[in-house]
Parts: sequence; structure tokens; C-alpha cells
Amino acid sequence: MNYDDEYKWCPECKSYVKYLQSYEKSYCIDCGTSVFLFSKEDWEKFRENLPRSDYPERLES
Ligand SMILES: [Zn+2]
Repeated sequence: MNYDDEYKWCPECKSYVKYLQSYEKSYCIDCGTSVFLFSKEDWEKFRENLPRSDYPERLES
């Protein structure tokens, strides 16, 4: 999967979608839901490849 800047994950559409960039958030161009850089699944995969010390603090559980 290539994480192109043009696409982000929409939990509502359950796919990578084109989005609108607002001041702090991005929104799905189709349904208006806040979108994320990664899907939960892809974030888990991405995180597995990081050394523990590189975990962003706010995302640690
Ligand atoms: Zn959507």
C-alpha cells in the first residue's frame, strides 16, 4: 500500500478516500466524516515496525 498524500482513511466509507483539508482536521470528500492518515489495521502494522521508543506518546495504550 502506498500512502499517498491525496488519500486518507475514512472509517465511514471503510476505504482510502480523497479528502478536504480544514484547519486542523481532514474530511472525507464523500460523506464529510473526519478521516485519518491510516486505517486502524494499517496503523497497527505501521506501529509494529517501529521501535518502542518511537511510539508517539498519545497513541500508546
Ligand atoms: Zn467517507
